[in-house]
Amino acid sequence: KPKHIAIYGKGGIGKSTTTSNISAALADAGFRVIQIGCDPKSDSTNILRGGDDLPTVLDSLRERGRPSIADVSATGFAGVLCIEAGGPVPGVGCAGRGINAAVDLLHELELFEQFKPDFVLYDVLGDVVCGGFAVPIRNGIADSAYVVTSSDFMAIFAANNLFKAISKYAPSGGARLGGVIANSIQTPYAASLIDDFAARTGTSVVGYVPRSQVVAQSELYGKTVIEAQPRSAQADVYRALARHIAENHESTVPKPLNGPALKAWARDWGDRVFGVEAGIVAPQEAI
Ligand code: ATP
Ligand code: MG
Repeated sequence: KPKHIAIYGKGGIGKSTTTSNISAALADAGFRVIQIGCDPKSDSTNILRGGDDLPTVLDSLRERGRPSIADVSATGFAGVLCIEAGGPVPGVGCAGRGINAAVDLLHELELFEQFKPDFVLYDVLGDVVCGGFAVPIRNGIADSAYVVTSSDFMAIFAANNLFKAISKYAPSGGARLGGVIANSIQTPYAASLIDDFAARTGTSVVGYVPRSQVVAQSELYGKTVIEAQPRSAQADVYRALARHIAENHESTVPKPLNGPALKAWARDWGDRVFGVEAGIVAPQEAI
């Protein structure tokens, strides 16, 4: 039975990059992988395919009525099957309906029966700002969700909002939380801050991904790190993360912090990082 995994996180935090590197690592290790971009920007799978765009499921539905699997998918690095759900014209309609329509079509076309994936990864857009973004975790599409966050407060805030959505829908069959992916780590304190947030909310960190120029450089070639620089330390990080997610059978219903508790927690970390008595300490002392 395939594992259906949704990856969430604040806009621009690194969801598509991280998801694509996980897909690439899993496929390279011999698993059958489908990556479905659930973002109207439809750029989720670009670095699995040399930077190329892919016709979206929703555009194909609009243009062809009933597209075939070949119309809406393309094979990327190491055989990852790439799909972009697409979305409404900007400013019109609901992105969540698009995800539903796309997943419905894939079921109708018996994609999962035919391709027989081990893993289906859903790269879901940005912040959970409306019910539409909760579709993959609400409607039985994904079994588990992971959230990508950095140590920035707004990224933590978005993760906490996802936890609210999961804790709301999990009791009625929604996805559970697999854990937190810490991204763009540059200092020990950043890792500790994310660790602490995860502990407070009843979950754990499944991987720490350093901020690395190797990611940016690979992106310029339209490639994942796994493909462009497979012997780099960063590739090892993504492979370990992929292995952890593949083997992870633990999932939780997280306990999100309420607004005041989250703010108090953040201020506490401000004090720990910069030092209250000493005033603002030098950056090299802060790390
Ligand atoms: P969106 O919400 O717009 O879909 P996203 O969360 O999918 O954004 P990405 O597009 O994956 O974010 O990443 C945003 C930028 O950050 C990209 O240019 C990517 O290369 C860079 N990036 C992500 N993770 C890292 C990292 N660990 N080190 C260096 N650069 C990174
Ligand atoms: Mg993205």
